[in-house]
Amino acid sequence: MEKKVPGVPSQKLVGGVSPRRGLQKGRPHKARPGKELLTRDASPFRGRGSVLVISAPSGAGKSTLVRRLIASLPDLVFSISHTTRPPREGEKEGRDYFFVTRHRFERMIAAGEFVEWAEVYGHLYGTSKAQIEKALAAGRDVLLDIDVQGYQQVRKRLPEASSVFVMPPSFLELKRRLTHRHSDSPQVVERRLAAARQEISHWPDYDYLVVNDRLSLATQALRAITQAGRFRRQNQAQRAQEICKTFGG
Ligand code: ADP
Ligand code: 5GP
Repeated sequence: MEKKVPGVPSQKLVGGVSPRRGLQKGRPHKARPGKELLTRDASPFRGRGSVLVISAPSGAGKSTLVRRLIASLPDLVFSISHTTRPPREGEKEGRDYFFVTRHRFERMIAAGEFVEWAEVYGHLYGTSKAQIEKALAAGRDVLLDIDVQGYQQVRKRLPEASSVFVMPPSFLELKRRLTHRHSDSPQVVERRLAAARQEISHWPDYDYLVVNDRLSLATQALRAITQAGRFRRQNQAQRAQEICKTFGG
């Protein structure tokens, strides 16, 4: 595919809500990325939030699934990336992405502001370190919709993160979905299919695999994975230590 693996990692932004292509990240009907997560207190039960990474070949249904997942889990917020890609029709600054110049993006890389970053289809995309940290400290779970290159960086920096690879049921079905979405020219569809051939080989790098055949079942699987992530030992460590202290430990 046309993605280049960058040598240096970077950062990304998390917000209370962020739709990408109209999808709601975080709680539906709440705007202003970051605002809600900055003001919300951490639940004593929940402790620190967890990170979930989701990657998929274009057209597999990731945006559709993420939209459904965010809408159904109020404690899950979407990480709003920075990108040098120009906004698409209907996309809003700070809701879908933070749209920045390449110069600004490169300065952010140099300042070490990104957890990860990558070049995808000729544009730079990155995840803000500070915003993720704030969301986690506030007890929110954070969903990162990033490509396979970004995940390679996240797994090194945030080994406690859970990750899911979403697959379409077949190559032909992927082609059908991309064609029927009517958002891309036949040339772009071909480019995405070529990229998919390469991306699909990365599925063994992820903790979970969800085949998006029936939408309701795939959504259910993602909900279960998100909820299980909250109970990973690393994500419960602080709470466990507090309980252990009451035992005199
Ligand atoms: P991605 O974000 O992975 O590029 P989209 O969410 O835009 O993919 O989905 C691509 C197309 O496939 C859309 O038209 C969407 O409505 C459709 N789609 C998504 N999931 C399914 C599914 N389980 N069954 C059939 N069509 C689906
Ligand atoms: P789009 O431009 O269609 O919104 O996204 C193109 C690709 O970039 C998708 O595969 C999406 O997951 C990925 N992407 C979006 N944000 C980030 C990011 O912050 N980091 C990385 N590595 N990939 C991203």
